[in-house]
Amino acid sequence: MTTPIYLDNAATTPVDPRVAEVMAACLTADGDFGNPASFSHGFGLAAADRVDDARDAVASLAGALPEEVVFCSGATEANNLAILGVAGRLREPGHMISVKTEHKAVLDPLTHLRKQGWDVDLMDVDASGRLDLAELEAALRPETALVSVMHANNEIGTLQDIAAIGQLTRSRDVLLHVDAAQSAGKVPFDMHGLQIDLLSLCAHKFYGPKGVGALCVRGRPPVRLQAQLHGGGHQRGLRSGTLPTHQIAGMGEACRIAAAEMADEAVRLASWRDALWQGLQQIDGVHFNGCRAHRLPGLLNVSIDGVEGESLLFALEHIAVSSGSACTSSDLTPSHVLRAIGCDAERAQGSLRLSFGRFNTERDAALALADVTQAVARLRALAPDG
Ligand SMILES: *Cc1c(COP(=O)(O)O)cnc(C)c1O
Repeated sequence: MTTPIYLDNAATTPVDPRVAEVMAACLTADGDFGNPASFSHGFGLAAADRVDDARDAVASLAGALPEEVVFCSGATEANNLAILGVAGRLREPGHMISVKTEHKAVLDPLTHLRKQGWDVDLMDVDASGRLDLAELEAALRPETALVSVMHANNEIGTLQDIAAIGQLTRSRDVLLHVDAAQSAGKVPFDMHGLQIDLLSLCAHKFYGPKGVGALCVRGRPPVRLQAQLHGGGHQRGLRSGTLPTHQIAGMGEACRIAAAEMADEAVRLASWRDALWQGLQQIDGVHFNGCRAHRLPGLLNVSIDGVEGESLLFALEHIAVSSGSACTSSDLTPSHVLRAIGCDAERAQGSLRLSFGRFNTERDAALALADVTQAVARLRALAPDG
Protein backbone atom coordinates (compact mmCIF):
# COMPACT_ATOMS: atom_id res chain seq x y z
CA MET A 1 0.00 0.00 0.00
CA THR A 2 1.37 3.44 -0.93
CA THR A 3 1.28 6.35 1.46
CA PRO A 4 -1.88 8.33 0.71
CA ILE A 5 -1.59 11.86 -0.63
CA TYR A 6 -2.56 13.96 2.22
CA LEU A 7 -5.22 16.58 1.64
CA ASP A 8 -4.99 19.44 4.07
CA ASN A 9 -7.80 19.15 6.58
CA ALA A 10 -8.89 20.21 10.00
CA ALA A 11 -7.05 17.57 11.99
CA THR A 12 -3.70 17.23 10.32
CA THR A 13 -2.14 20.29 8.75
CA PRO A 14 1.66 19.95 8.59
CA VAL A 15 3.96 22.60 10.01
CA ASP A 16 5.64 24.69 7.31
CA PRO A 17 9.38 23.79 7.30
CA ARG A 18 10.21 27.51 7.58
CA VAL A 19 8.15 27.61 10.77
CA ALA A 20 9.84 24.50 12.14
CA GLU A 21 13.24 26.12 11.63
CA VAL A 22 12.27 29.17 13.68
CA MET A 23 10.83 26.95 16.40
CA ALA A 24 13.98 24.83 16.60
CA ALA A 25 16.03 27.99 17.14
CA CYS A 26 14.07 28.61 20.36
CA LEU A 27 14.64 25.23 21.96
CA THR A 28 18.27 24.23 22.19
CA ALA A 29 21.29 25.47 24.13
CA ASP A 30 22.63 27.40 21.13
CA GLY A 31 19.27 29.10 20.60
CA ASP A 32 16.85 31.42 22.41
CA PHE A 33 15.65 28.93 25.01
CA GLY A 34 15.27 31.37 27.91
CA ASN A 35 12.15 32.20 29.84
CA PRO A 36 10.69 35.32 28.24
CA ALA A 37 9.50 36.50 31.67
CA SER A 38 13.07 36.55 33.06
CA PHE A 39 14.50 39.98 32.36
CA SER A 40 17.53 39.53 34.61
CA HIS A 41 19.64 37.85 31.95
CA GLY A 42 20.29 37.84 28.23
CA PHE A 43 18.63 34.46 27.69
CA GLY A 44 15.32 35.81 28.93
CA LEU A 45 15.66 39.03 26.94
CA ALA A 46 16.39 37.16 23.71
CA ALA A 47 13.32 34.98 24.28
CA ALA A 48 11.22 38.06 25.08
CA ASP A 49 12.36 39.57 21.76
CA ARG A 50 11.13 36.44 19.98
CA VAL A 51 7.76 36.74 21.70
CA ASP A 52 7.52 40.46 20.87
CA ASP A 53 8.30 39.79 17.19
CA ALA A 54 5.61 37.12 17.10
CA ARG A 55 3.11 39.40 18.81
CA ASP A 56 3.73 41.98 16.07
CA ALA A 57 3.24 39.39 13.33
CA VAL A 58 0.01 38.02 14.83
CA ALA A 59 -1.34 41.54 15.37
CA SER A 60 -0.48 42.51 11.82
CA LEU A 61 -2.22 39.47 10.33
CA ALA A 62 -5.32 40.03 12.47
CA GLY A 63 -5.52 43.81 12.21
CA ALA A 64 -5.06 44.09 15.98
CA LEU A 65 -2.52 45.95 18.10
CA PRO A 66 0.42 43.96 19.51
CA GLU A 67 -0.66 44.64 23.09
CA GLU A 68 -4.10 43.18 22.32
CA VAL A 69 -2.70 39.71 21.54
CA VAL A 70 -3.07 37.17 24.37
CA PHE A 71 -1.27 33.93 23.54
CA CYS A 72 -2.87 30.69 24.66
CA SER A 73 -3.05 27.02 23.68
CA GLY A 74 -5.31 27.37 20.63
CA ALA A 75 -8.75 28.39 19.49
CA THR A 76 -10.48 26.13 22.01
CA GLU A 77 -8.89 28.03 24.87
CA ALA A 78 -9.31 31.40 23.14
CA ASN A 79 -13.05 30.74 22.65
CA ASN A 80 -13.43 29.64 26.28
CA LEU A 81 -11.57 32.72 27.51
CA ALA A 82 -13.75 34.99 25.39
CA ILE A 83 -17.12 33.45 26.28
CA LEU A 84 -16.54 32.47 29.90
CA GLY A 85 -14.39 35.57 30.41
CA VAL A 86 -17.20 37.93 29.38
CA ALA A 87 -19.72 35.94 31.46
CA GLY A 88 -17.46 35.97 34.51
CA ARG A 89 -17.44 39.76 34.68
CA LEU A 90 -21.20 39.93 35.16
CA ARG A 91 -22.87 39.50 38.51
CA GLU A 92 -25.97 37.76 37.18
CA PRO A 93 -26.40 35.23 34.36
CA GLY A 94 -27.51 37.09 31.23
CA HIS A 95 -28.04 36.56 27.51
CA MET A 96 -25.70 35.51 24.69
CA ILE A 97 -26.26 34.82 21.00
CA SER A 98 -24.37 32.45 18.74
CA VAL A 99 -25.06 30.28 15.68
CA LYS A 100 -26.01 26.61 15.21
CA THR A 101 -23.06 25.95 12.90
CA GLU A 102 -20.35 27.01 15.35
CA HIS A 103 -17.47 24.77 16.37
CA LYS A 104 -17.85 22.72 19.55
CA ALA A 105 -15.26 25.00 21.14
CA VAL A 106 -17.93 27.72 21.09
CA LEU A 107 -21.05 25.58 21.55
CA ASP A 108 -19.73 23.69 24.57
CA PRO A 109 -18.77 26.71 26.70
CA LEU A 110 -22.21 28.14 25.87
CA THR A 111 -23.83 24.92 27.05
CA HIS A 112 -21.80 25.25 30.23
CA LEU A 113 -23.18 28.77 30.74
CA ARG A 114 -26.73 27.57 30.09
CA LYS A 115 -26.39 25.17 33.00
CA GLN A 116 -25.50 28.17 35.16
CA GLY A 117 -28.67 29.98 34.21
CA TRP A 118 -27.57 31.89 31.10
CA ASP A 119 -30.02 32.35 28.27
CA VAL A 120 -28.34 31.37 24.99
CA ASP A 121 -29.93 31.83 21.58
CA LEU A 122 -28.44 29.79 18.73
CA MET A 123 -29.38 31.34 15.40
CA ASP A 124 -30.40 29.33 12.35
CA VAL A 125 -28.56 29.69 9.05
CA ASP A 126 -29.80 29.55 5.46
CA ALA A 127 -29.07 26.70 3.04
CA SER A 128 -25.63 28.16 2.29
CA GLY A 129 -24.72 28.40 5.97
CA ARG A 130 -25.12 32.18 6.32
CA LEU A 131 -26.68 33.95 9.25
CA ASP A 132 -29.59 36.32 8.53
CA LEU A 133 -28.81 39.82 9.76
CA ALA A 134 -32.43 40.81 10.36
CA GLU A 135 -32.91 37.69 12.51
CA LEU A 136 -29.81 38.54 14.48
CA GLU A 137 -31.01 42.07 14.99
CA ALA A 138 -34.38 40.79 16.22
CA ALA A 139 -32.65 38.46 18.71
CA LEU A 140 -30.58 41.25 20.30
CA ARG A 141 -31.80 42.37 23.70
CA PRO A 142 -30.78 45.31 25.85
CA GLU A 143 -29.06 42.86 28.19
CA THR A 144 -27.26 40.79 25.52
CA ALA A 145 -23.68 40.44 26.76
CA LEU A 146 -22.02 38.83 23.73
CA VAL A 147 -22.62 37.74 20.15
CA SER A 148 -20.26 34.98 19.00
CA VAL A 149 -20.07 34.22 15.27
CA MET A 150 -17.37 32.27 13.46
CA HIS A 151 -15.74 33.83 10.39
CA ALA A 152 -15.30 30.68 8.27
CA ASN A 153 -17.04 27.41 8.97
CA ASN A 154 -14.66 24.48 9.43
CA GLU A 155 -16.85 21.93 7.63
CA ILE A 156 -18.34 23.78 4.67
CA GLY A 157 -16.09 26.86 4.44
CA THR A 158 -18.93 29.40 4.43
CA LEU A 159 -17.83 32.92 5.43
CA GLN A 160 -20.18 35.01 7.55
CA ASP A 161 -20.68 38.70 6.82
CA ILE A 162 -18.64 39.87 9.80
CA ALA A 163 -18.53 43.49 8.58
CA ALA A 164 -22.33 43.76 8.71
CA ILE A 165 -22.55 41.84 11.98
CA GLY A 166 -19.87 44.05 13.54
CA GLN A 167 -21.66 47.18 12.45
CA LEU A 168 -24.86 45.91 14.06
CA THR A 169 -23.33 44.78 17.36
CA ARG A 170 -21.23 47.92 17.74
CA SER A 171 -24.25 50.15 17.10
CA ARG A 172 -26.13 48.29 19.86
CA ASP A 173 -23.17 48.32 22.24
CA VAL A 174 -22.99 44.53 22.31
CA LEU A 175 -19.61 42.76 22.32
CA LEU A 176 -18.75 40.68 19.24
CA HIS A 177 -16.53 37.59 19.45
CA VAL A 178 -15.33 36.00 16.20
CA ASP A 179 -13.76 32.54 15.97
CA ALA A 180 -11.41 33.03 13.04
CA ALA A 181 -9.57 29.71 13.44
CA GLN A 182 -10.40 28.68 9.88
CA SER A 183 -10.07 31.97 8.07
CA ALA A 184 -6.86 33.39 9.55
CA GLY A 185 -4.11 33.15 6.98
CA LYS A 186 -6.57 32.04 4.29
CA VAL A 187 -8.55 35.20 3.65
CA PRO A 188 -7.60 38.73 4.71
CA PHE A 189 -9.48 40.41 7.53
CA ASP A 190 -9.00 43.23 9.95
CA MET A 191 -10.25 42.98 13.54
CA HIS A 192 -10.69 46.71 14.09
CA GLY A 193 -11.95 47.46 10.59
CA LEU A 194 -14.66 44.83 11.14
CA GLN A 195 -15.50 46.15 14.63
CA ILE A 196 -14.64 42.87 16.33
CA ASP A 197 -14.06 43.00 20.09
CA LEU A 198 -12.65 39.51 20.68
CA LEU A 199 -10.93 37.39 18.01
CA SER A 200 -9.82 33.75 18.33
CA LEU A 201 -6.90 32.39 16.30
CA CYS A 202 -5.16 29.05 16.15
CA ALA A 203 -1.74 28.51 14.56
CA HIS A 204 -2.04 24.97 13.28
CA LYS A 205 -4.76 25.80 10.77
CA PHE A 206 -2.27 27.98 8.88
CA TYR A 207 0.79 25.73 9.02
CA GLY A 208 2.01 26.74 12.45
CA PRO A 209 2.42 24.32 15.35
CA LYS A 210 -0.45 22.63 17.18
CA GLY A 211 -1.18 23.76 20.72
CA VAL A 212 -0.78 27.51 20.31
CA GLY A 213 -3.21 30.26 19.44
CA ALA A 214 -4.29 33.67 20.59
CA LEU A 215 -7.26 35.69 21.70
CA CYS A 216 -7.05 39.30 20.51
CA VAL A 217 -8.80 41.43 23.10
CA ARG A 218 -9.80 44.98 22.11
CA GLY A 219 -7.81 47.43 24.18
CA ARG A 220 -9.46 50.79 23.54
CA PRO A 221 -11.83 51.01 25.25
CA PRO A 222 -10.79 47.81 26.98
CA VAL A 223 -12.94 44.68 26.94
CA ARG A 224 -13.03 43.36 30.50
CA LEU A 225 -12.56 39.62 30.84
CA GLN A 226 -12.35 37.32 33.81
CA ALA A 227 -9.18 35.22 33.55
CA GLN A 228 -9.77 31.48 33.34
CA LEU A 229 -6.31 30.53 34.66
CA HIS A 230 -5.01 32.04 37.86
CA GLY A 231 -1.27 32.18 38.36
CA GLY A 232 1.74 34.34 37.72
CA GLY A 233 -0.16 37.21 36.16
CA HIS A 234 1.44 36.88 32.72
CA GLN A 235 -0.13 38.71 29.76
CA ARG A 236 -1.87 41.36 31.86
CA GLY A 237 -3.30 38.66 34.11
CA LEU A 238 -5.55 37.44 31.30
CA ARG A 239 -3.65 34.22 30.78
CA SER A 240 -1.11 33.20 33.36
CA GLY A 241 1.57 30.67 32.56
CA THR A 242 5.14 30.71 31.23
CA LEU A 243 5.02 31.57 27.56
CA PRO A 244 6.13 28.75 25.23
CA THR A 245 8.64 30.78 23.19
CA HIS A 246 9.08 28.16 20.45
CA GLN A 247 5.33 27.78 19.95
CA ILE A 248 4.74 31.52 19.88
CA ALA A 249 7.69 32.19 17.56
CA GLY A 250 6.34 29.45 15.29
CA MET A 251 2.91 31.06 15.24
CA GLY A 252 4.49 34.42 14.44
CA GLU A 253 6.48 32.98 11.53
CA ALA A 254 3.35 31.22 10.24
CA CYS A 255 1.55 34.60 10.32
CA ARG A 256 4.36 36.30 8.40
CA ILE A 257 4.39 33.60 5.72
CA ALA A 258 0.58 33.63 5.45
CA ALA A 259 0.50 37.41 5.08
CA ALA A 260 3.04 37.25 2.26
CA GLU A 261 1.64 34.24 0.42
CA MET A 262 -2.09 34.16 1.15
CA ALA A 263 -3.20 36.03 -1.99
CA ASP A 264 -1.36 33.76 -4.47
CA GLU A 265 -2.18 30.66 -2.46
CA ALA A 266 -5.89 31.48 -2.49
CA VAL A 267 -5.95 31.74 -6.29
CA ARG A 268 -4.12 28.43 -6.66
CA LEU A 269 -6.29 26.52 -4.17
CA ALA A 270 -9.54 27.95 -5.53
CA SER A 271 -8.65 26.85 -9.06
CA TRP A 272 -8.11 23.25 -7.88
CA ARG A 273 -11.26 23.34 -5.81
CA ASP A 274 -13.27 24.54 -8.80
CA ALA A 275 -11.73 21.93 -11.12
CA LEU A 276 -12.52 19.23 -8.57
CA TRP A 277 -16.14 20.36 -8.35
CA GLN A 278 -16.38 20.46 -12.16
CA GLY A 279 -15.13 16.90 -12.33
CA LEU A 280 -17.24 15.56 -9.46
CA GLN A 281 -20.39 16.77 -11.18
CA GLN A 282 -19.89 13.93 -13.67
CA ILE A 283 -20.95 11.56 -10.86
CA ASP A 284 -24.73 11.06 -10.53
CA GLY A 285 -26.27 12.43 -7.37
CA VAL A 286 -23.49 14.78 -6.19
CA HIS A 287 -24.56 17.79 -4.12
CA PHE A 288 -22.62 20.90 -3.19
CA ASN A 289 -22.73 21.85 0.51
CA GLY A 290 -21.94 25.46 1.34
CA CYS A 291 -21.95 28.91 -0.18
CA ARG A 292 -20.61 29.68 -3.64
CA ALA A 293 -20.34 33.44 -3.13
CA HIS A 294 -18.68 33.62 0.29
CA ARG A 295 -16.28 30.81 1.18
CA LEU A 296 -12.76 29.68 1.91
CA PRO A 297 -10.63 29.22 -1.20
CA GLY A 298 -9.44 25.62 -0.79
CA LEU A 299 -12.41 23.80 0.68
CA LEU A 300 -15.14 21.79 -1.02
CA ASN A 301 -17.87 19.89 0.83
CA VAL A 302 -20.04 17.51 -1.15
CA SER A 303 -22.62 14.82 -0.46
CA ILE A 304 -23.03 11.85 -2.74
CA ASP A 305 -26.37 10.03 -2.88
CA GLY A 306 -26.35 6.45 -1.71
CA VAL A 307 -22.75 6.59 -0.51
CA GLU A 308 -22.05 6.77 3.18
CA GLY A 309 -19.23 9.21 4.04
CA GLU A 310 -17.44 6.86 6.38
CA SER A 311 -17.40 4.02 3.80
CA LEU A 312 -16.14 6.42 1.16
CA LEU A 313 -13.23 7.45 3.39
CA PHE A 314 -12.09 3.87 3.64
CA ALA A 315 -12.62 3.25 -0.07
CA LEU A 316 -10.27 6.06 -1.08
CA GLU A 317 -6.93 4.60 -2.11
CA HIS A 318 -4.76 7.60 -2.85
CA ILE A 319 -5.95 10.49 -0.75
CA ALA A 320 -6.46 10.92 2.99
CA VAL A 321 -9.38 13.12 4.03
CA SER A 322 -11.87 13.37 6.85
CA SER A 323 -15.62 13.31 6.54
CA GLY A 324 -17.18 16.37 8.07
CA SER A 325 -15.32 17.82 10.99
CA ALA A 326 -12.24 16.01 12.18
CA CYS A 327 -13.17 16.96 15.71
CA THR A 328 -16.47 15.09 15.66
CA SER A 329 -15.95 12.37 13.07
CA SER A 330 -15.08 9.80 15.74
CA ASP A 331 -18.76 9.59 16.55
CA LEU A 332 -21.19 8.74 13.80
CA THR A 333 -23.89 11.30 14.52
CA PRO A 334 -24.50 13.36 11.38
CA SER A 335 -22.75 16.72 11.32
CA HIS A 336 -24.64 19.46 13.17
CA VAL A 337 -23.44 21.90 10.49
CA LEU A 338 -24.93 19.94 7.59
CA ARG A 339 -28.15 19.43 9.55
CA ALA A 340 -28.30 23.19 10.16
CA ILE A 341 -28.07 23.98 6.43
CA GLY A 342 -31.03 21.66 5.87
CA CYS A 343 -29.42 18.36 4.84
CA ASP A 344 -31.40 15.30 5.92
CA ALA A 345 -29.57 12.71 8.03
CA GLU A 346 -28.70 10.61 4.99
CA ARG A 347 -27.20 13.47 2.99
CA ALA A 348 -25.32 14.69 6.05
CA GLN A 349 -23.99 11.17 6.59
CA GLY A 350 -22.78 11.02 2.96
CA SER A 351 -20.72 14.20 3.10
CA LEU A 352 -17.08 14.53 2.19
CA ARG A 353 -14.88 17.48 3.08
CA LEU A 354 -12.15 17.93 0.48
CA SER A 355 -9.71 20.69 1.19
CA PHE A 356 -6.51 21.71 -0.54
CA GLY A 357 -3.65 23.34 1.28
CA ARG A 358 -0.22 24.86 0.84
CA PHE A 359 1.56 21.55 0.30
CA ASN A 360 -0.76 20.05 -2.27
CA THR A 361 0.03 20.09 -5.97
CA GLU A 362 -2.03 20.18 -9.12
CA ARG A 363 -1.36 16.47 -9.45
CA ASP A 364 -2.93 15.85 -6.01
CA ALA A 365 -6.02 17.69 -7.14
CA ALA A 366 -6.33 15.48 -10.23
CA LEU A 367 -5.69 12.39 -8.14
CA ALA A 368 -8.39 13.39 -5.67
CA LEU A 369 -10.96 13.58 -8.45
CA ALA A 370 -10.00 10.21 -9.91
CA ASP A 371 -9.89 8.58 -6.49
CA VAL A 372 -13.33 9.80 -5.39
CA THR A 373 -14.86 8.92 -8.77
CA GLN A 374 -13.51 5.36 -8.66
CA ALA A 375 -14.38 4.83 -5.00
CA VAL A 376 -17.97 5.90 -5.58
CA ALA A 377 -18.26 3.56 -8.56
CA ARG A 378 -16.90 0.63 -6.51
CA LEU A 379 -19.19 1.31 -3.54
CA ARG A 380 -22.22 1.63 -5.77
CA ALA A 381 -21.39 -1.64 -7.52
CA LEU A 382 -21.26 -3.35 -4.10
CA ALA A 383 -24.51 -1.84 -2.84
CA PRO A 384 -27.32 -4.44 -2.49
CA ASP A 385 -29.75 -2.47 -4.64
CA GLY A 386 -26.87 -1.23 -6.85
C1 LIG B 1 -9.85 23.96 14.86
C2 LIG B 1 -10.88 24.90 15.31
C3 LIG B 1 -11.03 25.22 16.65
C4 LIG B 1 -10.21 24.59 17.76
O1 LIG B 1 -8.85 24.83 17.64
P1 LIG B 1 -7.83 24.05 18.59
O2 LIG B 1 -6.51 24.34 18.03
O3 LIG B 1 -8.17 22.60 18.52
O4 LIG B 1 -8.02 24.55 19.95
C5 LIG B 1 -12.02 26.13 17.00
N1 LIG B 1 -12.81 26.68 16.07
C6 LIG B 1 -12.70 26.39 14.76
C7 LIG B 1 -13.61 27.05 13.78
C8 LIG B 1 -11.74 25.47 14.34
O5 LIG B 1 -11.64 25.17 13.05
